[in-house]
Formats: sequence, structure tokens, C-alpha cells
Amino acid sequence: ELSRLEEFRDTVAATSDGERVVLRANIGLVSDVAVALRNGAEGVGLYRTEFPYMARGSFPDRDDQYQLYRKVIEGFAGQPVTIRTLDIGGDKVLPYFTPPREDNPFMGWRSVRVSLDNRDIFRTQLEAILMAGVHGPVKLLFPMISGLEEVRACKLVLAEARANLAREGIAAAERLPLGVMIEVPAAVQMAPQLAREVDFFALGTNDLIQYMLAADRNNPLVNKYYDPLHPAILRVLHEVAEVANREGKGLCLCGEMGSDPINFLVLLGMGIREFSMPAPFIPRTKALLARLPLKVARKAAREALTLVDSISIRAHLAKVLSSLD
Ligand code: PEP
Ligand code: MG
Repeated sequence: ELSRLEEFRDTVAATSDGERVVLRANIGLVSDVAVALRNGAEGVGLYRTEFPYMARGSFPDRDDQYQLYRKVIEGFAGQPVTIRTLDIGGDKVLPYFTPPREDNPFMGWRSVRVSLDNRDIFRTQLEAILMAGVHGPVKLLFPMISGLEEVRACKLVLAEARANLAREGIAAAERLPLGVMIEVPAAVQMAPQLAREVDFFALGTNDLIQYMLAADRNNPLVNKYYDPLHPAILRVLHEVAEVANREGKGLCLCGEMGSDPINFLVLLGMGIREFSMPAPFIPRTKALLARLPLKVARKAAREALTLVDSISIRAHLAKVLSSLD
């Protein structure tokens, strides 16, 4: 079966009736680049930059970060790389940056909140990304955005980073498409307004599910409540897809749920055309697409959105999948 999947590396991702789908890779360390290329990823939909920060003994300086990002960008030879700014806190800690003790770390001082409270670290990272963006197409992604204020605050720091580089006479990427993660429920409600501030959305279902359903993504005791096919989850994902499509903004789903065939079927059917996933799942997803007519996925999603419990939703989607030839 593996060798059969290998065949899909160089085929274009599309439904059996020719609807184009873009499959990108989630990466963390530079070693993931080779894995992504081997599996035929069309660039990177999510580069989790906290991973290289976690893997060392101290904060990398601007040049270290620049070299690292440059290596990744050059590895993809012209395919876009979506670089997400530091997303520490919650479950991700840096060995040299002790977070304060918090009762609820996932609802606490994490992600872009840490960046906005540590402007020097944030600005330095943005400078490194702007510098690396000279070497290939880069998109810039801000995590854990809950409203307009944070996006605007991030843009101000980006402007400072640009000004610093200009003052130093260092080349910077001229235009960097900007995006926000949609992973806090408030951001779903604010999606129409956020769309006017940015070029694209990245749907972070790992966090969005845990915040929507109040079920810690890492706590086995509440694992059964952490349900990607909960009808409330399908409704918000559908809403985000509709807003992005209506506003003409890019939308890439980069949460883990996208790599499961049952979930993929409903996500495609509700209008999502770009996915980012751990690269080993890409060939399998292409193989599924090759057997799947878009109208079947659309109908499956339409039905699923009328169902009101996840058992029925899952059963319905599983039946559609098993009916494919
Ligand atoms: C997410 O929250 O869905 C996501 C893709 O980001 P992370 O898993 O790094 O929080
Ligand atoms: Mg997240």
C-alpha cells in the first residue's frame, strides 16, 4: 500500500471530478522539510516556530532565526511557507523562559499574548521573518487572535520591525500576506471584521475544539468531550468557510482533524479547499480525493450539517466514505 501511495507524491491534489485542493505540510523542525517534500506537500501551511525555540538552551538571536527560516524557505523552492509567530504557553514551554504559575494555562498568558508583552522578542522574530522573506514566498501568521485589537497591535510591531530593518539598511520582504489563526471562539464571531484586516485565515481546530467544547485537548479524562464532529464544531467551521469564501480571503485548515478521512470529507464538502497536515498524511488524502466527486462531498456536508449529534454525523459520513468505489 505504501508504494501505491508513493505514486501520489507527484500527482496534483484534486477530486475525481477535477476540483483542485491544496495540501500543505505542518512543520516544526528543519528536519520536517525533507519529510514534507518527500510526501509532495505544496509548501507549508503551518510552520510552528516555537519548536526550534524549544529545542535549544537560550533564545536564538535574529541572525539564528533568519538563517533557520531561510533554510526552510529555500527548501521549498518557490512554494509558499506560512510562518507562525511564537506560540508558547499552554502546553508548550521554553526551558529558558519560565512562565508564571497559572491555574488555567490554556486560558492564560500564551501565544500572541506573550509576544505582545515581550515586544523585543516579538519584533526580533518579525525582523528575522521579514529578512527571510526576501528568499521566497512567505506568509505571516499570528496565533491565538481573539479580536481586532490584537491584530492591529501585531501590525504595529511589524511596522516597527520594518522600520528597524530600513534604518539598518537590511533587505526585507516587500509584501508579506498576513493571516490570523481562527482558534478562539470569539475570532469566529469576529471573522467578517478580521477578514478586512488580513489576507487569510488559518483554522486552528486543535485549539478551537478545546475552547468551543471546554475540553482540554491533552486531558484524557475529557477526551470523549473533545469531539471534532460535534455539531457545534461543524457549524462554526462552516461559518468560517462561508465568511472566507464570501470575503475572498484564503482559508487553510491546519488542525489535526483535517488528516482524518471522515473529517476531511465534511470539511471539503463545506467549502474548504486548502489543508495543512502532518506530511505523511498527504498521499493518503490525495488518494481519497481521487475517488471522491465534489458533489458527493457537498451532499455529505449538507446532510451532516442538519444532524444534531455526533454519532449520527459520524455514521453518515462513514457510510458515504464506504460507498465510494
Ligand atoms: C491548532 O490550534 O489547531 C493549531 C494548528 O495550532 P497548535 O496545534 O500549534 O496549537
Ligand atoms: Mg493552536
